[in-house]
Amino acid sequence: MDCMKILIIDDDEVDYLTTNRKLKRAFRSELLEIDWLQDARKINYPSLFKDYDVCLIDQNLGSIQGLNVIQNMHRAGCMCPMILLTGSMSEKTDHQASEFGATDFLLKKDITATLLNRSIRFAIAQKKHEKKLTELAYTDGLTGIANRKRLDEFMENVLTSASRSQTGLGLVLIDLDDFKLVNDSFGHLVGDDLLKQVAERLKAAVRETDLVARLGGDEFGIGLCLMRDEMDIEPVLEKIRNVFSSPFQLGTTQINCTASIGAISRPLKNSLTFPELFRRADLSLYSAKFKGKNSVQLYPRSDNGARQKTARLPSRIQRALKKQEFHVFYQPKIDLLDQTVCGTEALIRWLPEEGLPILPADFIPAAELSGDIMEIGAWVLETACEQVSLWRNHLNLVLPVAVNMSPIQIGRTETIDLIQHVLKKYDMPPNLLEIEITETASLLNSRTFIQNLTAISDLGCKITIDDFGIGYSSFQRFMDLPISALKIDQSFIAGINHSAKADAICKAITVLAHNLQLSVTAEGVETAAQLSAIEDLDCQFAQGFFIKEPVSSEQFIDWHSAYRSSLSPQASSYLN
Ligand code: C2E
Ligand code: MG
Ligand code: MG
Repeated sequence: MDCMKILIIDDDEVDYLTTNRKLKRAFRSELLEIDWLQDARKINYPSLFKDYDVCLIDQNLGSIQGLNVIQNMHRAGCMCPMILLTGSMSEKTDHQASEFGATDFLLKKDITATLLNRSIRFAIAQKKHEKKLTELAYTDGLTGIANRKRLDEFMENVLTSASRSQTGLGLVLIDLDDFKLVNDSFGHLVGDDLLKQVAERLKAAVRETDLVARLGGDEFGIGLCLMRDEMDIEPVLEKIRNVFSSPFQLGTTQINCTASIGAISRPLKNSLTFPELFRRADLSLYSAKFKGKNSVQLYPRSDNGARQKTARLPSRIQRALKKQEFHVFYQPKIDLLDQTVCGTEALIRWLPEEGLPILPADFIPAAELSGDIMEIGAWVLETACEQVSLWRNHLNLVLPVAVNMSPIQIGRTETIDLIQHVLKKYDMPPNLLEIEITETASLLNSRTFIQNLTAISDLGCKITIDDFGIGYSSFQRFMDLPISALKIDQSFIAGINHSAKADAICKAITVLAHNLQLSVTAEGVETAAQLSAIEDLDCQFAQGFFIKEPVSSEQFIDWHSAYRSSLSPQASSYLN
């Protein structure tokens, strides 16, 4: 130790001078710098943390007790070792001293130079050890930067001080694109090296007062503090994005690595909690991933400026949920081999008390961004499963139901629990539940997404890729995902008989599906000609306005019984 810095907190000058003298004797051969603080009410807790090697505190400080100072220091995260000095010994103070975090407790009249030397050396060594353990608990083992626990605590502190000082703050979440590919192609050591370099570059891209953490796998988080206003996050996001604009040198290989970035900047006068802030940043990250690689998504701002048409929807969605303005409509799917109804698709409808119906395409993206999709999605799932179980129990009608799910839902493990819970609640065989995800969503590269989809399939539910043909599926995806069916996108069905290309694509998708042992449905069938064309293509299942548009559960049942009787040999076919 170069120079030991000691702070004495004592309201009595004579006592201070005595302690000072004893200290000098105890550390005769060492350089000492001793400060004295007489008024304990003037303590600046955070600065004590970094300024002193040890602190000696008198128990009796007039209006305040030494023990309370120690307690406050601990609350402020102070790691400086603290030794309590007292004029008289009491068993209670002795116990409290260790409980409140004092490293030692000395009776003033007993203090000798040897005792002081020993007590201080032990206190410093013990704190050093404690500090090392704490650092380990807060550090990511691979990159040496902060870990998730540290980011959580940092953000909690930043939130408290930002509210006090009316400053802004932000949270950025970063997920490397195709990191799995780097690991698979170059090995884990190269992957590790990439993570280390990304950590270094991210640290260099932000200010020292901000905190860069690795949250696990290929995910990083950055806590930004002391921002003047919400807009201040934009140049920071640009810098973070630039981190990925030049290749990474990994041994002899150069790798271009991009990242998806989700962020939120908290408005000055907003009292968001940290879990809510994290949830919103996470949703932004999800939509960034959804937009494709190398995308940045900032959580929509709360100002009244340039808002998108749907940006005000989140609060309306919450109100609509309460006012029960959402409904589930059902659209039949038929099996072209025998014309029977072989399933139904649940489609959400928003019919506001006042005003026009709002299309799913207009409010689902807003609900995904605000997180309301979790609540809406859970409600659709439960309503649809309850409905088919009512049909099963009361009408003896066993129909599988397909429920559309957003990638945000699939990305959360709570969705698996929810599906399990709903299946159990309605005593529903899992194979009666089909989960539809769009082809674009199926391309998400998140490990959790694939794992969760697999878990849903393991429950016994079917997974269907919806709107197939307009995304950019890779065949690898068919290997990774537990898919059981494809739905040809309506745009191709609309082109049938008019465009040779649409015909060829429908044919190709059907052949591909058959070869992969997947069932295939044509959706958006609007004419008899389209229906007969897809029959010729060997596409077994069909859905569309020509068969029946999505309708309420009551209308569905009316239509279903009429349709069923039309199938009897005496009746002429409904579809001709
Ligand atoms: P999707 O799952 O591909 O559903 C088919 C869409 O096509 C539905 O639109 C349906 O009403 C419409 N449709 C059915 N037959 C025909 C037809 O013959 N011609 C034409 N032109 N359209 C037809 P909708 O209900 O507006 O839903 C649009 C999309 O919104 C759905 O596409 C689905 O991706 C999403 N969506 C609907 N309900 C939910 C839900 O509960 N959760 C989630 N996450 N997404 C949903
Ligand atoms: Mg669908
Ligand atoms: Mg579709």
